[in-house]
Amino acid sequence: MISEANRVTLERNLHSIEERLLRASERANRRRDEVTLIAVTKTVSVDVASALVEMGQTHLGESRPQELWKKAEALPEVEWHLIGHLQTNKLARTIPLVKLTHSVDREKLLFALENEGAKQEQTWSVLLEVNASREESKTGFVPEAMTALIPRLNELKHVRIHGLMTMAAWEENPEECRSTFVLLRELRDDLKNRIDDRHPMNELSMGMSNDFEVAVEEGATFVRVGTSLFEGIS
Ligand SMILES: *Cc1c(COP(=O)(O)O)cnc(C)c1O
Repeated sequence: MISEANRVTLERNLHSIEERLLRASERANRRRDEVTLIAVTKTVSVDVASALVEMGQTHLGESRPQELWKKAEALPEVEWHLIGHLQTNKLARTIPLVKLTHSVDREKLLFALENEGAKQEQTWSVLLEVNASREESKTGFVPEAMTALIPRLNELKHVRIHGLMTMAAWEENPEECRSTFVLLRELRDDLKNRIDDRHPMNELSMGMSNDFEVAVEEGATFVRVGTSLFEGIS
């Protein structure tokens, strides 16, 4: 349970983000339903996450596997997204709980996923994380590594690449993130043309609290929002 004050604040925040998503979609001549809002619940309790689900929010994201285990156990009806670093020793327990893993950031993880898929007779849906802003603090494939990766991607039988994910650098003015999002979209279009059709390559996971409207204007199909959604929640 959460307090009535928190419920009112949460509802208002969710509504305001919805409005902003709608307006950004309209500016880009896109339909609102081309973009899925992922509520990033990493900073809030299971109770707050549960209140969001009651408000109709069906996609939630977590960056830490242990936190995802805990919340997924309490809220099994949610479509869970893993958006943070996945160590291979946590893979077998985490991946079956997740609808989409956004943060495949290294080749070794791709092949660990392939092996686990063969073992569990499952096919995992993933995005490749791209360090499009080239910050040293970030993980992910650098854009120019993607071409060399194509033959390896085509070998995968238990992993489907649905697209790309990135985090833009934090900017005071979110307009400055636009070039990062354009780069990711162009990289996705290029890869889609060049890799095996088994990999749908339709998704672009980009945009956070600070810059999600610009990301929607540039073709995001998933935005991952935490801070703005939980502003004022005590
Ligand atoms: C925390 C996090 C988000 C949400 O960021 P906010 O700025 O709080 O909206 C999105 N994506 C990733 C990968 C994150 O770790």
